[in-house]
Amino acid sequence: MLRAEGISKQFIRKRGESNVFTAVEKTDLCLLPGKITVLSGHSGSGKSTLLNMIAGLLTPDSGKVYLGDEDLYSMSDEQLSRIRNQKLGVIPQIRSALSSLTTLENVLLPSMLYEGAAKPDRREALAMLDRFGIADLADVMPSELSGGELRRMAIARALLMRPEVILADEPTGDLDDENTARVLAAFREAAGAGAAVLMITHDRDAGSCGDVRLRMSAGKIEEPSPLSLFPSP
Ligand code: ADP
Ligand code: MG
Repeated sequence: MLRAEGISKQFIRKRGESNVFTAVEKTDLCLLPGKITVLSGHSGSGKSTLLNMIAGLLTPDSGKVYLGDEDLYSMSDEQLSRIRNQKLGVIPQIRSALSSLTTLENVLLPSMLYEGAAKPDRREALAMLDRFGIADLADVMPSELSGGELRRMAIARALLMRPEVILADEPTGDLDDENTARVLAAFREAAGAGAAVLMITHDRDAGSCGDVRLRMSAGKIEEPSPLSLFPSP
C-alpha cells in the first residue's frame, strides 16, 4: 500500500503578488491494493506534481510518502531507486524512452537492473509488447515511434515487473478506443492481482473504471478526503 501524509509542493514562480506558487497544498492520499483510484481535475491543478511526489521523483516540501512501512524520502538514492524499480510502475506524462535503446530494450530496462528471482525475460517483454499491439516494433528505436506507440511502450515497461503500485499519468491521453480498452483491462488485471493503481485521466470513459474517484482543484483533493475513507493501518 502507498500512503502519503501531508505532502505539499511550492514552486518559485511569479503569480500575482507573490513569487511563490503552491502547486500542491498539504495532501493526504492512500492507494489501496486491489483498487483503481482515478484522479481527475483541470490542467494545472497539481495532479502530475502530486504523482511525481508519490513516485519518489520529486521531493515534497512537507510530509511523508510510505510504501508499505518504508518512508521513500528517508532512503538513500540507491535504496530509493531499487525500491522504485521493483515496486513502483510509473507511467509519466512526459515521454520517457531512452533514445539509444530499442523498444524492447526500453521495456526490459527495469528488469536488467533487478536481481530478484522473478526477473522478467525477453519472452515476457515481447508478450507484453504484443498485448499492447506493438510487438512488431520491438527492434525499432524510440525516435521512429508515434506518440501513442511511445505511450504503450512506457505502459509495457511499467507493467513488466508486476509492480505493487502503478502510477499512471494520463496513460490513455494519446490512445484510440481499442488501445485505451487494452490499457484499462491491463490495469484491472493488475489490480485483480493485488496492485494499487492510480490513474490520472481527463477521459470520462477511462475515469468511470475507477473504484475510488478523486478530483483535484487548485492544489487540493476535493472531499471526500481519501484518508477518512481509508483509515491508517
Ligand atoms: P496538472 O498535472 O494537474 O496539469 P501540474 O502538477 O503539472 O498540473 O502543475 C501544477 C502547477 O504547477 C502548474 O501551474 C504548473 O505550471 C506548475 N509547475 C509544475 N511543475 C513546475 C516547475 N518545475 N516549476 C514551476 N512551476 C511548475
Ligand atoms: Mg499533468
